[in-house]
Amino acid sequence: MKKIRIKLHWQIFIALVLGVFFGLYLKEHVNWVEWIGEVFLRGLKMIIIPIILTSIISAITNIGSAGNIGRLGLKTIIYYITTSILAILTGLILVNLIKPGAGADLGLTGDVEGFVLVEKSLGQTFIEMIPVNIFKAIVEGKMLSIILFAFLFGFVITQINNKHKEMLTDFFNASFEAMMKLTMIIIKLAPLGIFGIIAGVVAQTENLAVLALRMGEYMITVIVGLSIHCLITLPLIQLFLAKVNPLKHFQAVSTPLLTAFSTSSTMATLPLTLDAVEHNDGVSRKITGFTLPLGATVNMDGTALYECVAAVFIAQAYGLDLSLTQQALVVITALLASIGAAGVPMAGMVMITIILSAIGLPLEAIGLIISVDRILDMFRTATNVWSDTTGALVVARTEGEVFRVSVRGKNEEK
Ligand code: ASP
Repeated sequence: MKKIRIKLHWQIFIALVLGVFFGLYLKEHVNWVEWIGEVFLRGLKMIIIPIILTSIISAITNIGSAGNIGRLGLKTIIYYITTSILAILTGLILVNLIKPGAGADLGLTGDVEGFVLVEKSLGQTFIEMIPVNIFKAIVEGKMLSIILFAFLFGFVITQINNKHKEMLTDFFNASFEAMMKLTMIIIKLAPLGIFGIIAGVVAQTENLAVLALRMGEYMITVIVGLSIHCLITLPLIQLFLAKVNPLKHFQAVSTPLLTAFSTSSTMATLPLTLDAVEHNDGVSRKITGFTLPLGATVNMDGTALYECVAAVFIAQAYGLDLSLTQQALVVITALLASIGAAGVPMAGMVMITIILSAIGLPLEAIGLIISVDRILDMFRTATNVWSDTTGALVVARTEGEVFRVSVRGKNEEK
């Protein structure tokens, strides 16, 4: 008998739709399926740290020389900062045009206790990136410290004698390959897992209609901004800088995008992103292993845009007009907050405290935006992953790589 095979991203899409229906109409039975989502998420989270360590170390050892590493690092960082600022400016323009907060009935009743702002200087943050105990950093999931350690470890491997260099390079290449194999197994669970996650999210989001009414304009501003960034800005970069066909690239990374949307976590999506950009787009492992784990931690265009819109929205709702200097402050703090936000659900919302304090707005306003955060988080996380994958393509193209998703498909690898 002929087996019907539905492509994975379609399976996930169908699961998403079914999950919404289950969450809406079988709310009371949501615990029947929620656990599947948890199993899937736990599987992904289980491999995040081994994947980050092995992918970065193996990428750096394959990149080889200090000069190459520095050049790639610089290009990657320039891409991250540029696209994040483009995203923020898109948000800033929209929120000033639409003015979702003007005249909004705030009704600030939310409980915002627990959002304690940890004010650390930038210098201190950098110093604390150096782990005093790498195992503690791993246990606590301190991503920047883990990444820094992996970079250093990879770098020194390139500096030792040939025999040992080859041994360790092989070892980390092999470990990474094994982790990706594990990823493939977990991916098989994706449709079921996503069905469980979405059913749970929908069932827990009370009264969508009421929320949408009260916060509608704010949500629309964020979503329109993210759409402009995802459908215009990034595709233009893909087309002109990476020279790839955005539609083909979209198809190539549709599984991680849908997973990012469903899990609201760039980090949890990382294994799938690495797999898709390497195997479907055809970007080399030395670029994906370098740019994607870094991007998952520091490059968050969607979060940056959201931070900016949310802060200005709150100011508007308080009847305040932000001066040009204050708006500039919003842009800079939104950029820093997006870099500092971890790739986990709702991280971006916690970071809003930084911006609010910078421009002197009361933190209690978070009680208002918290109600719709889970939904916006899905959109901004997908944006974050879309931008990370674009970054990998741009950097790889400037390094002279050719892809499967290229615009000039004929004389390039099929
Ligand atoms: N959930 C987002 C992410 O993982 C971060 C955020 O809350 O904005 O990319």
